[in-house]
Amino acid sequence: MHRKNFGRNRVLQPSAAYTPANEQEVLEILDRHRGQSIRAVGRLHSWSEAILGDGVQLDLRRLDDVLLEQDGDQFVATVGAGCQIKRLLKELNRGGATLHSLGLISVQTIAGAISTGTHGSGRNSMSHYVEEARLARYDESTGKAFIDELSAGDPLLAARCSLGSLGIILSVKIRCRPQYNVQEHFTETRRLEDVLDAEDSYPLQQFFFIPWRWSYFIQHRCEDTGKRSFLAKLYRIYWLGVMDYGMHLKILFLERILRSRRMIRFTFRRIISLFVIRKWKVTDRSSSMLVMKHEAFRHIEIELFVPRDQLAEALRFTKEVIEVAGKKDSALSEVNQRRINDIGMQDDLDELQNQYGQHYPICVRRVLPDDTLISMASGGGQDWYAVSFISYARPARRSGFTLFSRFMARSMSQLFQARPHWGKINPLEAGELTSLYPRFDTFRTVCKTLDPQGVFQNEWTTALLDAND
Ligand SMILES: Cc1cc2nc3c(=O)[nH]c(=O)nc-3n(C[C@H](O)[C@H](O)[C@H](O)COP(=O)(O)OP(=O)(O)OC[C@H]3O[C@@H](n4cnc5c(N)ncnc54)[C@H](O)[C@@H]3O)c2cc1C
Repeated sequence: MHRKNFGRNRVLQPSAAYTPANEQEVLEILDRHRGQSIRAVGRLHSWSEAILGDGVQLDLRRLDDVLLEQDGDQFVATVGAGCQIKRLLKELNRGGATLHSLGLISVQTIAGAISTGTHGSGRNSMSHYVEEARLARYDESTGKAFIDELSAGDPLLAARCSLGSLGIILSVKIRCRPQYNVQEHFTETRRLEDVLDAEDSYPLQQFFFIPWRWSYFIQHRCEDTGKRSFLAKLYRIYWLGVMDYGMHLKILFLERILRSRRMIRFTFRRIISLFVIRKWKVTDRSSSMLVMKHEAFRHIEIELFVPRDQLAEALRFTKEVIEVAGKKDSALSEVNQRRINDIGMQDDLDELQNQYGQHYPICVRRVLPDDTLISMASGGGQDWYAVSFISYARPARRSGFTLFSRFMARSMSQLFQARPHWGKINPLEAGELTSLYPRFDTFRTVCKTLDPQGVFQNEWTTALLDAND
């Protein structure tokens, strides 16, 4: 039996696969397969090696109960590991609650989402809000499977984002908040300072750096105590029809059928902006406003987190590298050329020249510093900005994107402390990755304490845990 992930870039061939119905069954499976390698998967929406494993595979989709409890004027929910975010949102909404933080889609499971540090914009990532994880693992003295509750100290911080490396998460307790409305509207600017200045008024905003046009479309967002707009339904139809499907079908046509870089550049310069209605202010329920149908068409993505003080230079570098990657005759500015020389990546840049046409808006989201050990936004005294690069090329035609993503990860990690999203394309070597996280050693210690035999690891996490930075 084999399964592929959403991006069709990973194939899983477990030796045995189970979909247990309850916690007891999970323990029985662990006991039956003692000493073998075991890994859980969610909905396979990760592109990284986090989901791989050739041993026993556990899919916890049947553990999806939600229990919502009031906690002062806030809420806390106990959620079965395999519960999809969309089901969780529905259940929370019934009790007048919602999640603090949401990504662009809601098909992931709660355990999968927190395990890779899934985030949205303007808040911490989802991991930050986890208060407790119930974990199935082995008792070292008896060798039998048991349930551990991680609710404090370094084990909790590790469980908040653990890459599946501590054991099998059975459920999590996550802090929630009362349901709220979000107002949004779009504007366009050519100056990054305008984008950042707008954060005071629109703390939940995200923005899109438009390739080849090189302007910023800001999706201004803030909480709104007002009611759902009269035209909110129409706005949802517009998003679904024009943005989620119309714009994406156009991009698919250009990238997969026409395959003309010149037409792609023209479209981004002149046409894509016509899809966006500016200054139409609409208020809707947060969970409707913050997610989109981004899973509608297959794609692949790398996302790099840079600290705020590196953002301006990182975006300038991004623009120049995209120009070089997309054209024969483009070159870097003096300052960026010097940077490439300093890190010895001229050969890599030469290899990339004219090999990849960026054909999707670069989404940039602000993530507040997380209280975790290794989520991408962990630590640091400043906000992080997640800069995403997406390719809609057919799976067999992704070599340009592979070159580009490797170049961006390797250069930006050295130049701007960029950390690749754990769930997305992650081309760095183990030592390069772990050196980006000051608390990786602590994470390693927790993993080796809770899983001393390494049975919950795959090759990738084993290399991370063994890497000497
Ligand atoms: C279209 C699309 C849009 C996306 N948008 C965003 C976004 O807006 N923001 C963002 O940050 N990310 C985003 N992602 C990435 C996605 O949120 C993460 O990759 C997430 O981890 C996927 O969750 P999943 O349930 O599919 O888990 P999987 O991908 O199946 O697994 C992810 C990790 O979780 C571990 N895991 C899963 N279940 C358990 C368990 N019960 N116990 C222990 N470990 C477990 C797995 O071992 C693996 O390491 C997007 C992905 C796609 C495909």
